[in-house]
Amino acid sequence: MDICERINIIDKQTPDYTTLVAVSKTHPVETITDAYKCGHKVFGENKVQELVAKYEALPKDIQWHMIGHLQRNKVKYIAPFVSLIHSVDSFKLLREIDKHAKNNNRVIPCLLQFHIAEEETKFGFDLEEVCQIIENKELIAIKNANIVGVMGMASFTEDTNKIRNEFKILKKYFDRLKERYFFDNDDFKEISMGMTNDWQIAIEEGSTMLRIGTSIFGLRSCAL
Ligand SMILES: *Cc1c(COP(=O)(O)O)cnc(C)c1O
Repeated sequence: MDICERINIIDKQTPDYTTLVAVSKTHPVETITDAYKCGHKVFGENKVQELVAKYEALPKDIQWHMIGHLQRNKVKYIAPFVSLIHSVDSFKLLREIDKHAKNNNRVIPCLLQFHIAEEETKFGFDLEEVCQIIENKELIAIKNANIVGVMGMASFTEDTNKIRNEFKILKKYFDRLKERYFFDNDDFKEISMGMTNDWQIAIEEGSTMLRIGTSIFGLRSCAL
């Protein structure tokens, strides 16, 4: 099966409102070009350097999503072109994105990353921390970083009930934020959840954005 067929299979099983982000990290420009030639335009990367290099090498109508942990001192490299940052995990990062978006005369859409998995190592907020950010008086001054939804990663486990419950938690967080702070904001609509091993569950639980790598591009070689 080629890349086009793999993308089509996923597309066919997802609702119209769901965006498929093809996670191309570690894969070469040639592989991304194959996917681009089937008409796919949305790609996700988790490292700034790799993201910038691929942006420079590939067609400019590609929408690049930053899906990995983002250090504040690297925001400036992606601010000129990034379409969506999935991984905002602090107010300071949001402020930095705002600053560089403004410098580039752009508005950068952002997702608030929640910690929903049990694993300790994952980045992200809990609901209370997010409420503190949203109620932070300084948020009013932030006009060039636009919060458009939430993102989360479920635990890496075979236990589908556990995965489903974690997705339910993220959906509940989204609903509460929508109801309380974003009820009159049509931009706030994205729930980024679901990867190769759990995307079908994520769809059932209301995902609007899937981040899928392995199912499309095959296994990644171990990056040393
Ligand atoms: C690598 C990665 C993915 C894609 O993972 P696959 O299991 O290959 O589909 C999704 N989200 C994030 C944040 C990632 O780093």
